[in-house]
Amino acid sequence: MACDICGKTGTPLRDLREIYQTDQIKVMCPDCEKVVNKQLRSIQDMTTRMQKALLKLFMAERKAKKDPS
Ligand SMILES: [Zn+2]
Repeated sequence: MACDICGKTGTPLRDLREIYQTDQIKVMCPDCEKVVNKQLRSIQDMTTRMQKALLKLFMAERKAKKDPS
């Protein structure tokens, strides 16, 4: 079997967590896992910042609607 991302053979393969699997990508080698995990952390940092900003924006707009001043 080969890594579904880089195609490398003769390497240990890790199953991707089911929520991240696609029809084409289900297992990957340790090198790809390292890169993919780094990217996942970067995406998670970004979405956490977006979540905070969007909720603060929602609350500020809700407050502005209620506030006649
Ligand atoms: Zn790989």
